[in-house]
Amino acid sequence: MLIIFDLDDTLIDTSGCITPVKLEDALHRMVENGLKLPDFEQGLELLKRLDGTSESSSRSLAEFLEILNADAFLLEVGVREVYENIPADLPVFPLEGACEVLNDLSSDHQLALVTIGKPAQQMQKLKKAGIDSGLFSKIAVSEERNKKIHYKKIIEDLGYASSEVVVCGDRIPVDLAPARELGCKTIQMRWGRGLNSTGFKSDVDYSISHLKELKDIISSLMTFSIF
Ligand SMILES: [Mg+2]
Repeated sequence: MLIIFDLDDTLIDTSGCITPVKLEDALHRMVENGLKLPDFEQGLELLKRLDGTSESSSRSLAEFLEILNADAFLLEVGVREVYENIPADLPVFPLEGACEVLNDLSSDHQLALVTIGKPAQQMQKLKKAGIDSGLFSKIAVSEERNKKIHYKKIIEDLGYASSEVVVCGDRIPVDLAPARELGCKTIQMRWGRGLNSTGFKSDVDYSISHLKELKDIISSLMTFSIF
């Protein structure tokens, strides 16, 4: 089978290691660029609280600036800080079992990675988390929030039928709905933003909270599939 993974909050702990640090950095940058904030700590608390139920950092920054009635250009400043400036010394951890599970799965299946972000940044996160990029037959980093074209291209390039493809990610609308539209099986990783992911449960075939659960799911799919 072909198993396509998302990166952030599926293989690496983005919401644990990166998001809190980068939201604080973004708030500093926005203050430097003229955001009027009566109390920095209270502002940060509000931003983090909004982010806790938001589907993306850019959405929570937008909501935050709207509440403060701030200048719209500050959103660009904040978003750029969050998505384009990960410091070299910021540690990034894989989710528990990620490296081991990927290694195991790669012996019987082909793996691919489709992630949204800046290419250099996403590859740096993968490396920092100690995940071997060589395990993936294809890696696509998309700057657009549209994964469907990448799924389709990878599936075609590697010569699979969509019924032989499983897509695993945390966000239903971004990661799983487009996979379902193509006829792939979908697995939701309930982590980080995946915990408050909007979207239709009908787009989710399996739901996991630990990557180790993947092996049994893939085995059962193999057993019940026509292959
Ligand atoms: Mg994700």
